[in-house]
Amino acid sequence: MIAKERKPPRKLLQTEAILRRLQPPNHPKRPTIEQDLKKRKAGYNGEKAVDYHLSFLTDKKYMIFNDLKLPLAPDYFQIDSLLVTPHYSLPIEIKNIAGTLTIDPEFNQLSKHYQGIETGYPDPITQAKRQMLFLQKWFYNNKLPCPPIEFLVAFSNPSTILRMASGHRLIPPYDKMIHAQNLVSEISKLNTKYNGEENEIIDLKKTKRLLLNQHQEHHYSSILTTYQLQEADLIKGVLCDQCTKVMTRMTGTWFCPHCLHSSKTAHLQAIDDYFLLIKPTITNRELRDFLLLPSRRTAATILQSLNMNGSKKGVFYTQSF
Ligand SMILES: [Zn+2]
Repeated sequence: MIAKERKPPRKLLQTEAILRRLQPPNHPKRPTIEQDLKKRKAGYNGEKAVDYHLSFLTDKKYMIFNDLKLPLAPDYFQIDSLLVTPHYSLPIEIKNIAGTLTIDPEFNQLSKHYQGIETGYPDPITQAKRQMLFLQKWFYNNKLPCPPIEFLVAFSNPSTILRMASGHRLIPPYDKMIHAQNLVSEISKLNTKYNGEENEIIDLKKTKRLLLNQHQEHHYSSILTTYQLQEADLIKGVLCDQCTKVMTRMTGTWFCPHCLHSSKTAHLQAIDDYFLLIKPTITNRELRDFLLLPSRRTAATILQSLNMNGSKKGVFYTQSF
């Protein structure tokens, strides 16, 4: 069962928002941002494909935590998917890479051949092993009995071809690199391996509580800074969801003078865009400025309707995640 759902990564939402608002339409940064959006979408879709395979593990003895970020002084570590069972735990590293992948165990490297181009990648096994050690340490730091920790690297794109470099046979630990569709069968092999264990090593309830309590949401980072853009590079206003042009407000409704579409809720996307692109708090004045809304009263009504966390005097509002 799913103990922690996966949400679309904030970076992906920010990238979509920036492309909605970047002006002029032929801005020189647009192709780079569009390319990044493609990569981020592919990564997220790959993770969702793995979630699909794991969704077959409905038994209560399986707890699945997606996209965890856990503190381990002086830093944090991230796990794409973590399966916790009473007898073992299994961090899964998810890779979405199209093409033919060749693993060279001698040099610990992975190379991709795709459309005639060869690209090198760090050895995912080394990466997954590091996650395993971090997780071990996390159990230890939290005074939880340390269970056996296994690991897998799941390739989410079914068209990926995995191959050993010539002269090498598939040897452990490279057999931990699998296609996502084989996850469930790999997990049942692990169940058989630990079946003999009489005692349950992991206290599922306590582990779940600690994992969820300690999980950190990703820090707010400015996407404008990432692409060296200014607020002036963004179109302000409530955008029409039919033709993407700026709408005007008429008697409680947003109206598009370009395609005549009208909407009662079009401002919600605009406010989301503000939080994704500008900053995590908003005042009445900032809302009016971003939504191109002349009335302070209307802005106040909108802010109140959003069910956000207002400060004591109602001076600014923050988005509740
Ligand atoms: Zn329109």
